[in-house]
Amino acid sequence: MQKIVKAPAKINLTLDVVRKRDDGYHDVEMIMTTVDLADRIKLVSLDEDQIIVDVTKGYVPSNENNLAYIAARELKDRLGIKQGVSIFIDKQIPVSAGLAGGSTDAAAVLRGLNDMWELGLSIEELADIGLSIGSDVPFCVHGGTAIARGRGELLEFLPTPPPCWVILVKPSVGVSTKDIYERLNVSELKHPDTEGMVNAITNQDFNGVCSRLENVMEKVTFELHPKVEILKERLIQYGADGVVMSGSGPTIFAITQNEHRAIRLYNSLKGFMEEVYVVRLLGNKHE
Ligand code: ATP
Repeated sequence: MQKIVKAPAKINLTLDVVRKRDDGYHDVEMIMTTVDLADRIKLVSLDEDQIIVDVTKGYVPSNENNLAYIAARELKDRLGIKQGVSIFIDKQIPVSAGLAGGSTDAAAVLRGLNDMWELGLSIEELADIGLSIGSDVPFCVHGGTAIARGRGELLEFLPTPPPCWVILVKPSVGVSTKDIYERLNVSELKHPDTEGMVNAITNQDFNGVCSRLENVMEKVTFELHPKVEILKERLIQYGADGVVMSGSGPTIFAITQNEHRAIRLYNSLKGFMEEVYVVRLLGNKHE
């Protein structure tokens, strides 16, 4: 038995941090959607009770620390499954980039094994298991477009945003999400217009979406890594309709509805940046 599952990256159209909680986590309010930049995961059922992980990128762990491994382990433990699985990850999503690459792999493994092993779990039950793996995993289990609140697990689904091209570029700097949270001064943040973004999405108002792209983490990441801010400015100069950083960064993405502009942006960046992608926005839930 084997199955191939697609694990798309997520981007944040807005990202707000509402408060720091007593348990150390932060309450967020963010609008997330999916893009057609995806890892491809092959699952092969094994008779032996073991989990094997193989990843195409050497610096992503091929062991029990891989989020895909943790997802399979979690499912097997909770349901007392004795079968094993071999998980091959063809990694296309940049790593440690603010695109939830690990979380989407974990979510794809949960969805894929539920189908392959005919476990009959609902998508909500899978999302609930996903939360024990990471805050972004429940969203990745569902896919689509949603406002995420709480740690990121309280999801309110939205319509699919207006169709557009997404140009993603990951600068070669390492960003620690934990570090960014620690440096955020929550009481001084200028909050994104989340409600305005919801209205723009609902009304299919592309210009309204572009003008409301905002991420409160940008300021801190830009202070630590000025070249990320320079990259954002360049994308604006090159004619992107809207530009913002995804997650805690360092990936910056631009959106446009004009195909020629998308190709021009891609070509302009490709000259001096290694990790550049031009893809379609997906924005609809997994079937
Ligand atoms: P987020 O947007 O959820 O903060 P990210 O895109 O910034 O996530 P990831 O690509 O998920 O970051 O990688 C974060 C860390 O997780 C890396 O140190 C990586 O080695 C580890 N990791 C574990 N499993 C995976 C996986 N399947 N894919 C990518 N990274 C993984």
